[in-house]
Amino acid sequence: MKKYQEILLALATSHDIIPKNDPRIESYREDTMHRGDPDAVVRARDEREVKEVLQFCFEHRIPVTICGSQTSMTGASVAEEGLLLSTERLEGLISLDQDTRGTTATFRGGTITADVQRLVEEAGYFYPVAPTSRESCRIAANVATNASGEDSYKYGPCRTYVRRLKVLLADGSERVIERPRDHIPSQERNRAGYMLQGAQPLDLFIGSEGTLGLITEVTLDLLPRSPSFFAMLLPFSDQRKGLHALIDLTQKRTQSLRALEFVDDEACRTMKTHPDFPTALREARALIYLKQEWRDERERAQLLSWWCEWIEKQGENAEIAFVATTEKKRKMLQAFRHHIPKTVNEEARKYWSQGGGKIGSDWWVPVKHLMEITDFFYTEVAKAGLRGMAYAHMGSGHPHTNIVTKNREEYQKGMQILRKCCEKAVFFGGGVAGEHGIGKIHRDLLCIQHSSAMISQMKKWKQEYDSHFLLGRGNLFDVV
Ligand SMILES: Cc1cc2nc3c(=O)[nH]c(=O)nc-3n(C[C@H](O)[C@H](O)[C@H](O)COP(=O)(O)OP(=O)(O)OC[C@H]3O[C@@H](n4cnc5c(N)ncnc54)[C@H](O)[C@@H]3O)c2cc1C
Repeated sequence: MKKYQEILLALATSHDIIPKNDPRIESYREDTMHRGDPDAVVRARDEREVKEVLQFCFEHRIPVTICGSQTSMTGASVAEEGLLLSTERLEGLISLDQDTRGTTATFRGGTITADVQRLVEEAGYFYPVAPTSRESCRIAANVATNASGEDSYKYGPCRTYVRRLKVLLADGSERVIERPRDHIPSQERNRAGYMLQGAQPLDLFIGSEGTLGLITEVTLDLLPRSPSFFAMLLPFSDQRKGLHALIDLTQKRTQSLRALEFVDDEACRTMKTHPDFPTALREARALIYLKQEWRDERERAQLLSWWCEWIEKQGENAEIAFVATTEKKRKMLQAFRHHIPKTVNEEARKYWSQGGGKIGSDWWVPVKHLMEITDFFYTEVAKAGLRGMAYAHMGSGHPHTNIVTKNREEYQKGMQILRKCCEKAVFFGGGVAGEHGIGKIHRDLLCIQHSSAMISQMKKWKQEYDSHFLLGRGNLFDVV
């Protein structure tokens, strides 16, 4: 049989194809964590082209990996063989509509998430799911990973807002799937494989990591205009004390707290390398990052003083807290927050060639087990002589722990720690993936959480939609 790369050249006459020997293919080889080897890349210009390419690959049994902006943290958007089908050109708002269920917006799948948010805001509405990568990631990919963001503490994951999807299956055939009127979407944190229990067909595609079909259009349920809010960085002189305080806060959880995150000592060190990081916070050993909504100026003033009193009660200095009440300052805070994964990812990438790199966790636990599992993580990292940090969605029991490893030996040690933490997380009633999914590099974590019967059921669904296992090959399931 001819190699995929030769067969794929037939697409060159009518499609924007980057063949294997073209140096431009280099920028499509990697996501944040993993490097692949596609035989060609096609940047489809519209839905018709997507359909043609899928039909062609189906006919020739060529594996197809779908990608948005390749910001995935699991290798899910990386092709190890066959075609990489990029959705980057399928951009734009198609329509804003109203019915008895509310207002929806329909976007082409490749629209950048930050543009989705801006466009609906301009129309007077609110779409609250904002991954830290929002300026580069794409809306259909957010659906395919059931993405969340810091505001998911209050507003839940992407799934909550997906009303309808238009999907092209592996053979190019079209499906339009809609959530039934009376069905309330699940808010559950689990991102390990397909959602099977109580799920609608729509739910199967949400979080399916490009393995069931290519999403060309996404219809989102919109909320009324975003409530006003301020954001804060609250300093702690001790990491454990800070985490205790955060856990305590989750028990008093109020409707008006939009985000509740934690930055540990090591992650703080990274955050402090941001050029605009406030000097007053230089001595902090941990930070709580929160967003607080308010209804009117009076409530805003009350809430601000409540937080200052609260931090003083923890024995910390409220005067050095960073308070962001303006858009400019809130953007600064977001930039500090984004600086952590960005810096760690860049540093870790330098060690890829030596067999090292970042080991990022995505496990989650009920909040009451957060202290125990993070203590376990820090102890294991110290025992192994590695550098580790934990930050992000701790208010939801979902830290991202990062270990930067410099070589293969360190990498293996780090992976063992990750596995042990995942086992503990599942034991505590949590899961192995709470945001980024499984992709290629975390495939062997799936069986920590799911029985073989459950994984077989997932494979059956995969077979139903993609009988030749062509889409997203290597994601979720081993390549057979
Ligand atoms: C610095 C940084 C911060 C991040 N922060 C967050 C965060 O806060 N929250 C979060 O959830 N994630 C976060 N991520 C991970 C990542 O941004 C998300 O998973 C995002 O949804 C991926 O979008 P993308 O356009 O880059 O998609 P890709 O990485 O290209 O693809 C991701 C997955 O979606 C599939 N896919 C893409 N397009 C389609 C389509 N049209 N149809 C079907 N399947 C498709 C791919 O096959 C792949 O499985 C972060 C990543 C980075 C690098």
